Amino acid sequence: MLTSLVLVKTLLTFMYSDLKLNKILETIAEKAQSLSGKGKIADYIPALARVKPNQFGIAICNINGETYTAGDAEKPFSIQSISKLFTLIQAIKTYGDQLWQWVGREPSGLRFNSLVQLESENGIPRNPFINAGALLVCDRLESRLSAPNYQLLEMLKSLSQNNMIKVNQQVARSELNHGSRNAAMAYLMKAFHNFENPVEKVLESYSHHCAIEMSCVDLARAAVLLANKGVPLSQERLLTAKQTKRVNALLATCGLYDEAGDFAFKVGLPGKSGVGGGILAVYPNNYTICVWSPALNEAGNSLAGLYALEQLSDMLEISVY
Ligand code: GLU
Repeated sequence: MLTSLVLVKTLLTFMYSDLKLNKILETIAEKAQSLSGKGKIADYIPALARVKPNQFGIAICNINGETYTAGDAEKPFSIQSISKLFTLIQAIKTYGDQLWQWVGREPSGLRFNSLVQLESENGIPRNPFINAGALLVCDRLESRLSAPNYQLLEMLKSLSQNNMIKVNQQVARSELNHGSRNAAMAYLMKAFHNFENPVEKVLESYSHHCAIEMSCVDLARAAVLLANKGVPLSQERLLTAKQTKRVNALLATCGLYDEAGDFAFKVGLPGKSGVGGGILAVYPNNYTICVWSPALNEAGNSLAGLYALEQLSDMLEISVY
C-alpha cells in the first residue's frame, strides 16, 4: 500500500515537472519565433539562402531519452559546423590522444575560416571546431577509416536512433563549389606536412558532413552521450568519461565561433553552432538542448536560438559555471 502511494506520488511529480517544462519551452518558442526573422540567413550558397527565416524549433533530451519539444523541432535543417563535433568524436575514438599532435585546443579569436594563424603557427590549426581543424580531422579519418562518410552517417543514425538521416546532395555540391578558402587551408597544412590525403578528396567529405540534415530532436538525442559521460541512448559506451569531459571543454571554449565567451557569459553551457542556424548545448549529467532558427547574428550564430538558450538557462537555472 505504502509502495503504491509512493509510486503515485513520484509519477505525479514527474507529470507536473513535464508539464512545467513543456510550458517553459512553449513560452520561449513563442518569443523566439517573433525574433526569428531579425537576423540574416547564410547566403554563401543558394540552397541555404532559400531557407525561410521565420522558423524556430527547440528540443531537450534527457539522459534517459525523454524528449521535450516546441516549434519546428522535428524539421530537418543543414547541420553545417555542428558536424565538426561528431567528426571530432570519430577522431578521438580512432586516434585517442595522438590526435592532439596535429590540432590544438585553444580558441582562435579569429573568424572560423581564417588562414592567418595557420601560416604563423606552422600548419597546426588552433582547435577542431574552426574549419582548418575540422579539415585536419577529416583528413586523419580518411587515413584510417575505410568509409569515413558512411561511418559518420551510420554513427549519427545510431546516436539519434533515426535511420532517415541523410545528406542533402545539392547543398554538398554547392559547398564544394564555394570551398576555395577551405582548399587554401588544406593546401597550407599540406605545405607544413600536416595533411596526409589528396585535398580534393578530403574537401568532398567535409562538404558532405556540412550538408547532413537533422532536426533539433535528432541532434539533441545524438549528443546525449556528452551529457552522460560518454554513454549514448543505445547504452553502448562511445567515449570514456575523461574524453567526454574534454570534448565538453572544447565546446565551451571554441564551439561558438568568435562568440564563445559571450555564450559562456549568457548561457553557461558547452555548445556548438552552425551557419544553418542550429545550436546544440550540453548540460552535463542532465540533458542536451538543440535550438534552430536559420537567421544569424553578425558572429554567424542563430539570433533567435541564442535568445532561447539564454532564456532557458535563466529560467531553469542551468549552467556549468
Ligand atoms: N560549410 C561551411 C564552411 O565550411 C561551414 C560553416 C559553418 O557552419 O561554420 O564554410
